[in-house]
Amino acid sequence: MAAQALPFLRWSRSASTLRACSSSTATPHRLLSTLRRPAAAARCESGSKAMLKGMDFSELENWVRAQGFRPGQAMMLWKCLYGNNAWAHCHDELVGLNKDFRKMITERADLKALTVKDILTASDGTRKILFSLEDGPVIETVIIPCARGRTTVCVSSQVGCAMNCQFCFTGRMGLRKHLSTAEIVEQAVFARRLFSDEFGAITNVVFMGMGEPFHNIDNVIKASSIMVDDQGLHFSPRKVTVSTSGLVPQLKRFLHESNCSLAVSLNATTDEVRNWIMPINRKYNLNLLLGTLREELCLKKNYRVLFEYVMLSGVNDSMDDAKRLIELVQGIPCKINLISFNPHSGSQFKPTPDEKIIEFRNVLIQGGLTVFVRLSRGDDQMAACGQLGEPGDYQLPLLRVPEKFQVAL
Ligand code: SAH
Ligand code: SF4
Repeated sequence: MAAQALPFLRWSRSASTLRACSSSTATPHRLLSTLRRPAAAARCESGSKAMLKGMDFSELENWVRAQGFRPGQAMMLWKCLYGNNAWAHCHDELVGLNKDFRKMITERADLKALTVKDILTASDGTRKILFSLEDGPVIETVIIPCARGRTTVCVSSQVGCAMNCQFCFTGRMGLRKHLSTAEIVEQAVFARRLFSDEFGAITNVVFMGMGEPFHNIDNVIKASSIMVDDQGLHFSPRKVTVSTSGLVPQLKRFLHESNCSLAVSLNATTDEVRNWIMPINRKYNLNLLLGTLREELCLKKNYRVLFEYVMLSGVNDSMDDAKRLIELVQGIPCKINLISFNPHSGSQFKPTPDEKIIEFRNVLIQGGLTVFVRLSRGDDQMAACGQLGEPGDYQLPLLRVPEKFQVAL
């Protein structure tokens, strides 16, 4: 992502935390290039090779059996890929495997799905990893350390996004590509591999990077199930949160098939505003979205959806909006996350002033809701997640601004 896309964060390059397959004494600069080399090699090797990180455990077991080995050996391989601080990226790191088994894997499988292009450090310590995909495009993953011993990795699920939300930088790109299961899982593996020494355990995953996860639901459900496997990466399902703009059929499917957490980007309290700023609302309106959540969540125990609400000055931040929001979410077990809008070159919105956000929050609290606020600061983790991508020359057109909001912009 271009630095100018993130005026609120000062990024600098840093490779000090990189772990490479082959050298522990390399300088940071060397580490970065060393880290790139095995990936380049992996690119040449690929083709007909099996991509191990695209498989869940039962698929891996079947694959191991199909190669003529005992399925029992699959668990040892799984642990090399995901467990015991191994996070193997090259065949040399497949420690403890039988020699023939290792040789077979070297010949027939790839361990790594992404190539690190760059790592940027924000002034508040947040890191952004730029990964190149096999076929050229770049995706972004953000690592957000937190003083309370929680470190979050914000993963991407697509290159760009088709949803065209008017306030989102990624949305300007349009959809370029769905990420594979392996490419999604690999972002979490890299986060652990590169930053566990520095930040301690990477405890949380949020699907709030580039893309609409439910537009790529098969790969997202599979990747999140690999992330929570208790013999592997072992993230707590409560701490793996998939965020959606509100694709209702996929949301239902997710609630039935996955035990991970759900966040819904609400961002408006009327269909009029939501139809404009989140065009997906024209297909799945507020009534349908919230009605579905109300029905589905009463079937789940101890489960609360997180509603995200980006505060846009003069658009969705009136006290009437706050009161409507209280009404809208009645009967839905939920928490609300008020997010300060981060201006960028691709949007004409303005952020709500901090005092007004607090006022809005207070109305919600008085209405009995649980509310968190993320004010617009350089270390605002969600803001960084909503600002990823590089639209380049081709950008989706912005929609016509309804007359009554023209003055707000
Ligand atoms: N596509 C998914 C997840 C990625 S966006 C979704 O929309 O939920 C992650 C979050 O960033 C969403 O809640 C979105 O509303 C928010 N966001 C997008 N652009 C933003 C911006 N410019 N400032 C602040 N938050 C933004
Ligand atoms: Fe896509 Fe989410 Fe951005 Fe909307 S907010 S364009 S759904 S990434």
